[in-house]
Amino acid sequence: MKGIFEMKNKTILIQGAMDIEVEYFISQLEKKEKHIIAEYEFYTGYIHAQKIIISKTLVGVINATTATTIGIIAFHPDIVINQGIAGAHRSSIHIGDIIIGEKCCNINAYSMPTKQEGHSSNPFEWEPNKRAKDIQLGDKALINTFKDFFESNYDKTIYVGTLGSGDVFNREFDRISWLQNQFNHLCEDMESIGTYSVCNRFQVPCIGIRIISNNELTNEQLDKEQAIVLQKFLIDFLQNKSL
Ligand code: SAH
Repeated sequence: MKGIFEMKNKTILIQGAMDIEVEYFISQLEKKEKHIIAEYEFYTGYIHAQKIIISKTLVGVINATTATTIGIIAFHPDIVINQGIAGAHRSSIHIGDIIIGEKCCNINAYSMPTKQEGHSSNPFEWEPNKRAKDIQLGDKALINTFKDFFESNYDKTIYVGTLGSGDVFNREFDRISWLQNQFNHLCEDMESIGTYSVCNRFQVPCIGIRIISNNELTNEQLDKEQAIVLQKFLIDFLQNKSL
């Protein structure tokens, strides 16, 4: 039989954009060491005998892309998990529900028809461009492992589907419905597309896991504390599963 250290020999890089999305993880790290590279913070250590790097990516796609590239080159993780809060883009999805990103797409990349001066602007005429259509995939094995554990250990709903990502916090009902028709995504965040794109280039298995913190369609206001619920749940996962 394998010893616990042999079973947990993979290095997992776990990302969060804001302090509230990484602080609980950092507080749980054993043998913690802090590293700063180009102003991005990384914390190495162990959680339940699993070698972990916590990366504070900062908010937005550019930051997530940069932090993921640095994280992979500097720490050589076997797996990258991008996690944090997100806004639901369907009225059936509520605060506290969790979305596992089977796919991820850039919902903020468009081409548009020409309009002359004084002819206004109509975002509903814009069309997703080729970068928006460049759908990135999460790692299938990771998706199934997390899905199985989450479905049997979480009291709210778990969804597996597409994460929409871009540097925008959409708050218009009609805009969100329009986006949803274009991309069929479940939620919106500002980082995951950066992580998926970089990990897929480097061929590092990755997964995005988002807990819903707001739903503009149903008037559920931003609850950033959901970030802590997700970190606690992911630590439960690390205690019970080995990757
Ligand atoms: N005040 C912060 C933004 C907080 S909310 C700032 O501008 O710096 C944005 C963060 O939460 C992002 O990291 C994003 O990934 C996530 N997020 C939560 N709900 C979101 C939504 N509805 N749309 C886009 N990002 C959302």
